Amino acid sequence: MSDNPYVVLGVPKDATNAEIKRVYRKLARQYHPDRNPGDAAAEEKFKSIQAAYDSIGTVEGRKEYDNQGRAQDMFRGGNPFSNFGTGGGFPGGVDIGDIFSQFMGGRNQQQRNEFEASRARKEPNRSAETENGSDIESGLDITLDDAKNGTDVKFTHRRLKKCKKCDGRAFGTTKGCSECKGLGVSTRESVITVKVPPGAIHGQQLRLNKMGNEHPHGKPGDLIINIRLDAEDGRRWENGRLIQEVPINYTTLLLGGNVQIKTPSNKRIQIEIPARSKIGDRRRLNGQGHDGGPLDIEFTIIEPDKLNKKQIIALEKLKELGL
Ligand SMILES: [Zn+2]
Repeated sequence: MSDNPYVVLGVPKDATNAEIKRVYRKLARQYHPDRNPGDAAAEEKFKSIQAAYDSIGTVEGRKEYDNQGRAQDMFRGGNPFSNFGTGGGFPGGVDIGDIFSQFMGGRNQQQRNEFEASRARKEPNRSAETENGSDIESGLDITLDDAKNGTDVKFTHRRLKKCKKCDGRAFGTTKGCSECKGLGVSTRESVITVKVPPGAIHGQQLRLNKMGNEHPHGKPGDLIINIRLDAEDGRRWENGRLIQEVPINYTTLLLGGNVQIKTPSNKRIQIEIPARSKIGDRRRLNGQGHDGGPLDIEFTIIEPDKLNKKQIIALEKLKELGL
């Protein structure tokens, strides 16, 4: 079984937080032990859904998961250089440029070549001086309306900033700054306002120059914000296309008929379901999507939780007829 929470929940990596919550609730209801008493398979599925939601169900948790391996996570919970220069140190004479590059990233190709060349010549490594702060990637969820009209969003931003006390000068030293203990940077939080331009599309990236992690000596990285448009219940994005599920009765799916749907702009329109339609069939409705774009509808089946007596009798008849 996959431990990737996105795979467990069956949501795309760029799903909005609201979509993740909606999918989780639906799955949790379906696999809840109350609904499947004593069933080990359902219980296991329920637990994995729960674990997946624990991991990406909160804004903070999801940010942490998405940025796993990035600098701010590595720095959390202690000083990665705490052994440096104490005699115990790192085995094999690892230099601070090597270590720092793992935490800060952001080395460009030219710097990498320079670094490799200086290594080959067995020169003292100067890469720490030319290193830059890493970029930070984050997601921002807005409504379809806000995307159309543009909006300002307050955004809680955590990043590495130069140490207030030593201004980064203590970087790589074992003493000298009680504040950063030789890191030259510390994690700080601030609330920034992000301007989303009108006409933003799902998956669009905003790059905020120098708003990424700062480096004690080098240039700060950028903050990259992935815009996600929350399309509301029953809708999702697929490769930039808006897909809307249309729940249809089994009989209508087989015999054809008319169904009323509500478009993203809250318009009610009637659509015709051809006879012998199948679950997963798609139709494109031009001009009915977000901001006047196309809307792709996808047929799904209505699965009733309860049946009345008449319906059961009718279904028994269908069963006799091999349906
Ligand atoms: Zn300091």
